[in-house]
Amino acid sequence: MYYIGVDLGGTTIKVGLINEEYKIVQTAVCDTKAERPPDEILKDMAFLCKEVMKKENISEEDVDSIGIGCPGLAIPQDGILLTSPNLQTFKNTNVKAEIQKYINLPVYIENDANVAALGEVINGAAKGVKSAVVVTLGTGVGGGIIIDGKIYSGAFFGAGEIGHHSILFKDGYKCGCGRTGCWEQYASATALIRDAKIAVENRDSKIKELTNGGAINAKIIFDAAQAGDEVANKLLDQYFKFIGIGVLNLINILQPQMIVLGGGMSAQKENLINPVVKYLKENMFGGLELRTEIKAADLGNDAGIIGAGLLGKSL
Ligand SMILES: [Zn+2]
Repeated sequence: MYYIGVDLGGTTIKVGLINEEYKIVQTAVCDTKAERPPDEILKDMAFLCKEVMKKENISEEDVDSIGIGCPGLAIPQDGILLTSPNLQTFKNTNVKAEIQKYINLPVYIENDANVAALGEVINGAAKGVKSAVVVTLGTGVGGGIIIDGKIYSGAFFGAGEIGHHSILFKDGYKCGCGRTGCWEQYASATALIRDAKIAVENRDSKIKELTNGGAINAKIIFDAAQAGDEVANKLLDQYFKFIGIGVLNLINILQPQMIVLGGGMSAQKENLINPVVKYLKENMFGGLELRTEIKAADLGNDAGIIGAGLLGKSL
């Protein structure tokens, strides 16, 4: 039996055919051209699903279901994408019905951050773990909450917006969501780079040397710190503390078995995990022992496709 997982993004649609070992065995991609009406975009998606089956020389009878990870607010049981910031033409769109015009298979949809979290639980860093929170540290901070092996999407499908719990309401940075001091404003790669630009403005630092006139990125800051640069080390000490504050909030509220740190920042592996764990151990509620395991994500961009493909199985 195979599964089809779809990552519907604002710029590309990626489809993967997943085998019983939860590995992606075939892929097909096309541009979303998001300005188009939903029926045109979804027709392309349906044809990509047919394409991956054709490549593997299988038919619909060999496929369990199609799962789609969508940016925005999805209503899983109805197969409807209510609204999406990256797909402006989608308004209360019945994705499931549209795909089923072309393919006779069960169709499931979910928010993209939620399916990426599910992917890590199914075959990534949190494989076999019953309760986990997957935190994506990238341009922003996103995440998904898995409880008892299932996505927790809240009473009204908007849960898991963990980047928007405020850690510094007074005098904090203004966030795109309308509040101030959201975790995203301190724990994202964007935040680290913003702080680095300020820190190196009037100071000598290896960060400046490594950028060589180009833009600062997160890897440069980590590289400079490892080379013993004081500015970079100070920046990262503060950054790890910001990550730790939010992770500890999650532990205090949910006490999951595991918290997985993903997104671009997870490439730093133990350079990221070890200092965050140190902060947690020093600041645990009531001096309790840290029992929640903290790990870097494993699957990278495949997490979304694998999680989406296995939506039907997890329901
Ligand atoms: Zn916010």
